[in-house]
Amino acid sequence: ARKAALGASTGPGATSDGHKVPLLANVGGPADVPAAVAAGAEGVGLFRTEFLFLDDSKNAPSEEKQVEAYRTVLEAFPEGRVVVRVLDAGADKPLDFLTPADEPNPALGVRGLRSLLDHPDVLRTQLTALAKASEGLPVYLEVMAPMVADRADAKAFADACREAGLRAKFGAMVEIPSAALRARSILQEVEFLSLGTNDLAQYTFAADRQVGAVSRLQDPWQPALLDLVALSAEAAKAEGKSCGVCGEAASDPLLACVLTGLGVTSLSMGAASIPYVRATLAKYTLAQCERAAAAARACDSAEEARTAAQAVLSGE
Ligand code: PEP
Ligand code: MG
Repeated sequence: ARKAALGASTGPGATSDGHKVPLLANVGGPADVPAAVAAGAEGVGLFRTEFLFLDDSKNAPSEEKQVEAYRTVLEAFPEGRVVVRVLDAGADKPLDFLTPADEPNPALGVRGLRSLLDHPDVLRTQLTALAKASEGLPVYLEVMAPMVADRADAKAFADACREAGLRAKFGAMVEIPSAALRARSILQEVEFLSLGTNDLAQYTFAADRQVGAVSRLQDPWQPALLDLVALSAEAAKAEGKSCGVCGEAASDPLLACVLTGLGVTSLSMGAASIPYVRATLAKYTLAQCERAAAAARACDSAEEARTAAQAVLSGE
């Protein structure tokens, strides 16, 4: 029955009244590309480059090895967008050559962009490899930094991209509540936002994403998280820029409609979820998604938010 419901699920992501929401794939490297292409992904919304570094966490891979991996992914989407995230090391993804040992709270320590700014050579090599990999390709390359906390972080990243001669759009992930609260100021330095709802939930609720006992607080339907998504999307709209979602939240078809109603401009997810999200989004108008989003935000719990959104969309 699930398959039958997907019968008409091809083509670009859009609501029933034609409001486009590009559906992109999250990939960890070239091995994930065939599934993304098969699912009809309109590009890559999150290339988690730290997966290329996991074989040997003591040393960074050479520039040549990186160029090859990036080029394979870029070539798979000749007309599409590819959003590459620079190394997000630390906390749940430690890499010996970047992550400080013995931090009392690794999730609150030197991770993500912070570790790259402490190791400018590693960032420079990665950006140079991206510049070389994209040379001569028509692809629309976007490069973003994880764990951006404020405007100074966004500026440091954009400066590093310019210094490496990268011809791409530079963006910031919104994974820390401060970045959502001050999204407009961050957008003075970068051209797009991408919400990492996994970390954004972790930091909004002070609930470690690796601790099952607090998983209730990791639920992306939490209205407080929806509020931060709305703030970020509104800021991007006011600045005439885009704001996607690349966390797990985007892979829940009903929540994808709510995120669209909150003003998110693209959704990136594991390839397997794309057909379900595409089929669900195609059933509702943008106005219905907006009403579902407003109903969810008016609730006080994740469970109530989900039920309220479902009720609006099923016309109850
Ligand atoms: C996120 O935090 O939501 C995200 C997309 O990044 P990661 O899961 O790789 O930390
Ligand atoms: Mg993250």
